[in-house]
Amino acid sequence: MVKARQVVVLGTGGTIAGTGTDPQQAWRYQAAQLSVEQLVQAVPELAGVSLRCEQVAQVDSKDMAWPVWRNLAQALALELARDEVAGVVITHGTDTLEETAYLLHLLSDGAKPIVLTAAMRPATAPDADGPRNLRDAVKVALWASEQGRGGVVAVMASHVWSGAHVRKMHSHVIDAFDGGGALPLATLLPDGDVLALVEAWPDSGRLGWGCVQVPVPPRVEVVTSHADADGVMVRALWAAAPDLKGVVVACTGHGTINAPLERALQEMQQAGVTVWRSSRVARGGVQPREGDEFPAVEGVTAAQARVALVLHELGARLC
Ligand code: ASP
Repeated sequence: MVKARQVVVLGTGGTIAGTGTDPQQAWRYQAAQLSVEQLVQAVPELAGVSLRCEQVAQVDSKDMAWPVWRNLAQALALELARDEVAGVVITHGTDTLEETAYLLHLLSDGAKPIVLTAAMRPATAPDADGPRNLRDAVKVALWASEQGRGGVVAVMASHVWSGAHVRKMHSHVIDAFDGGGALPLATLLPDGDVLALVEAWPDSGRLGWGCVQVPVPPRVEVVTSHADADGVMVRALWAAAPDLKGVVVACTGHGTINAPLERALQEMQQAGVTVWRSSRVARGGVQPREGDEFPAVEGVTAAQARVALVLHELGARLC
């Protein structure tokens, strides 16, 4: 049997592939400019590694959309099926990395590692973090493969996060991600080697890559509960989008909803729209309880819960 040693690097854009004209003003840049081959070439330590690059998309991840996820799922299905492939690294923007990571976590069969990475500074910044994150991601993919660990993780700023929990927690510092209360799975040494495995490796959702192959996903939107939330947003949404299939509420605290908004959601649920809850609080999420009026998606952000509800409405039972 061939020993799987190749890492496939799938490029999707983001700040990691961003460029600016003035290195002193690193915040003035355009995301998604450099090809994934250029990103790999900028990391001398990757010269001796068997890599194959593929540009799946070239987007600022704030603009992430279903067609990119479809392409990504197709590429993953093909690449992961190849015997010589040890794992896949995905370069991504930080803004929606948590959504892509959670989607892939739910779809993956957990057989081989899928490692997302990104950067907070563009490639032209003097202190660009992308090259190191990319090197670390490739090292983690090879390490995980050697250890027989599959599934989806994200590598940022010397931390390895589970794809089930990772989220962007800071808008501009380099170490911008955390696990919403879950610890990092591992911390990396300066050379990218894994220091110690702290947490259990994530168990994948195993829904299969085919789940996202429909051309248009069911419409699922997010609404937030807040002071004065009187339900007008929900009623306007429903009037404007008769194809609405689901709503995720970013609730206050441990899953509570302002009473007038709750009434509007009850009416919508009675009319056949699925309503799920998550929390707008950064850590902890909402724990499901028996008799919940609106089911809670545990331990994820509202944006991630939306991904789960889209898959649920596609027919993959998750809750
Ligand atoms: N807007 C960028 C993106 O998400 C931000 C980043 O990558 O840090 O693509």
